Amino acid sequence: MATGWNFHELYLWHETGNAAMFFQPSLTIEPGEHAENASTKRRFKNLMEVSGLTEKLTSVKSDPVSDDDLARFHTRDYIARIKALSADRGGDASYLTPFGHGSYDIACLAAGGTYQVLASVLSGAIANGYALVRPPGHHAEADKGMGFCLFGNVPVAILKARAEHGQARVATVDWDVHHGNGTQAAFYADPSVLTISLHQEGLYPHDSGTLAERGEGKGDGFNINIPLPAGSGHGAYIAAFEQVVIPALYRHKPDLIVVPSGFDGSAADPLGRMMLHSGTYRAMTAMLMAAADDLCGGRLVMSHEGGYSAAYVPYCGLAVMEQLSGVKTAIDDPFLPVFQNYPGQELRPWQQNAIDEARRAAGL
Ligand SMILES: [Zn+2]
Repeated sequence: MATGWNFHELYLWHETGNAAMFFQPSLTIEPGEHAENASTKRRFKNLMEVSGLTEKLTSVKSDPVSDDDLARFHTRDYIARIKALSADRGGDASYLTPFGHGSYDIACLAAGGTYQVLASVLSGAIANGYALVRPPGHHAEADKGMGFCLFGNVPVAILKARAEHGQARVATVDWDVHHGNGTQAAFYADPSVLTISLHQEGLYPHDSGTLAERGEGKGDGFNINIPLPAGSGHGAYIAAFEQVVIPALYRHKPDLIVVPSGFDGSAADPLGRMMLHSGTYRAMTAMLMAAADDLCGGRLVMSHEGGYSAAYVPYCGLAVMEQLSGVKTAIDDPFLPVFQNYPGQELRPWQQNAIDEARRAAGL
């Protein structure tokens, strides 16, 4: 069965403005390019087309979600504030999360694109799929945007699908290098959605993503954080998957697996300090596909999050798409031999210790 692909040109028109990485220019900060600009996603989409893979996938259309859909997760006050600023000249969703005119509409389209892929997988129209959306979503909380995210694309999509397709057990596996605090918050008291986040310990947000955050009330035990030390590479991530992520999925037995997919854990990323390469993303995708085949008819959905190396994100993305679709293109990752041979790609003892602690905290 086919693999779905969602992209819309307007995703690239979301404007984050002028910045030096993420700080606004000033008399002491020279103007430059915002880290979350369109180029990483544009180049991912372009490499997909050049490789010939896009035409082998099933195109999934983007339909914007409504305010009522957003309100399944976000507060009405927050939605109204973003909508009003977007209708004017834009603004900031809280702190260091700038957006321009029209970004409200584009963010609704991004959540909608994620939802359409999810709904298409649930209906059986496609086997699995990827939404290459922008702005990203996994840091957005109910009443504020943060970390370049306006609305929680994945939570909104899951909650809308639940309302329209019935109660489903879901697991999210967030491999973005930053903690998926927004997705965690959305389902913190909900035992039907297992939220898992692997991230660089203490990177962003600085004060979340700890082992102590396990969920609350009926959701206690249904949130798993796997904070890994800076410098973790292929070996550490594969071990974390083998020892924590995959066993947790088998325990939860989801009907659907959703991946907030950031490629900022790569060895080339300017905002993260991890060591991953396209082979790691390919391998993690294969492991999730095997689990999804066993547990939930292969139902696996990914929604794009961070990743700030314009040169490298496309090769990580292509590897994931080749794995999801089972189509190997003629394009090889030119960086792979370089990054694979960096010292420290194999699992180190202090990384194993961190994985052991996460496994124990998860009760596995
Ligand atoms: Zn990130």
